[in-house]
Amino acid sequence: MTETRSINLAVIAGDGIGPEIVSQAERVLDRVAELDGFSIEKTPYSLGAAHWLETGETLSEETLAALAQHDAILFGAVGADPRSAEVPSGLIEREVLLKLRFAFDHFINLRPSRLFPGAVSPLSNPGDIDFVVVREGTEGPYAGNGGVLRKGTPAEIATEVSLNTAHGIERLVRYAFELANSRQRKKLTLVHKTNVLVNAGQLYSRYFNEIAAEYPEVETDYCHIDAATIYLTTDPSRFDVIVTDNLFGDILTDQAGAVTGGIGYAACGNINASREFPSMFEPVHGSAPDIAGQNVANPTATILAAAMLLRHLGREDSAARIERAVEKDLAAHPGATRSTDQVASDILERL
Ligand code: ATP
Ligand code: MG
Repeated sequence: MTETRSINLAVIAGDGIGPEIVSQAERVLDRVAELDGFSIEKTPYSLGAAHWLETGETLSEETLAALAQHDAILFGAVGADPRSAEVPSGLIEREVLLKLRFAFDHFINLRPSRLFPGAVSPLSNPGDIDFVVVREGTEGPYAGNGGVLRKGTPAEIATEVSLNTAHGIERLVRYAFELANSRQRKKLTLVHKTNVLVNAGQLYSRYFNEIAAEYPEVETDYCHIDAATIYLTTDPSRFDVIVTDNLFGDILTDQAGAVTGGIGYAACGNINASREFPSMFEPVHGSAPDIAGQNVANPTATILAAAMLLRHLGREDSAARIERAVEKDLAAHPGATRSTDQVASDILERL
């Protein structure tokens, strides 16, 4: 690659194991930039539970405005140790993570799910698992619509209203077709529950069928969410790209993480596909306070998130370089227990 433009990267290491794993991913990014002849200018941002305890600030408008100036964000994990009662439950998730997602319109949550050679799947016959889940990121039952009536009484009613807009579904489905079309197998599966959630279901089906007509090369399929969880266990190789709503995607991607060998390898991107705002790349796992500071957390998921980040910024060759190094590393050390920095050093050597 001959591009020399510098990447202006925001780095949010966060809480718990966040700083340990992010610093290892930064080592890998720096080395890849050196090998492929571009530069990365990094700006650290202090956000999360520890930052809130110190300053009382969750995510200010000034910080949001500063973050908005970057090409992309590399994110570790935020969240308080549940054993500490000092941070109100859900505060950091709501006021930092969800706020970032809505402010930067991260309407695509992208989760590649691949069983790397050397990673151990709990399935006895996993086959060739290599699919991507395109999960809706800002709508559905997670949009924050609903409330509680007659709170604290035996007649209490709680609702979460699933919000589904034509605009949101169209851009989601279009992104998924575009992605499926760019892959070798070119197969896209819509996962929903259209027979019961008929209102949102017809909107998803309509856009899926309409946009399918523009992509004659892409093979299409449909699965109810309940059936999809079965197939993910019995026959995961039937999937190539899956497009689904926010709630179903949340559940399915955790299951996908499990069948592909677990939390240490699962990365995701919170993507603003219109590129108006920076997209954010992170490991799927949380801040793991139980193992923080011990140099035992696996940095691989964060390193794979860095690869997704480079791909998003058009650096396909550099992304593939990292993925190949991870692949070789896993194949060379199946099931090995290594320290955080050792894993990164081993991957660095294979770049
Ligand atoms: P959150 O609400 O922040 O997502 P969580 O309850 O889902 O938190 P995680 O922080 O993801 O929990 O941790 C779940 C378990 O997985 C913990 O036992 C943790 O130690 C382990 N774990 C998470 N990430 C890693 C990692 N990178 N390497 C090794 N173990 C990890
Ligand atoms: Mg979690």
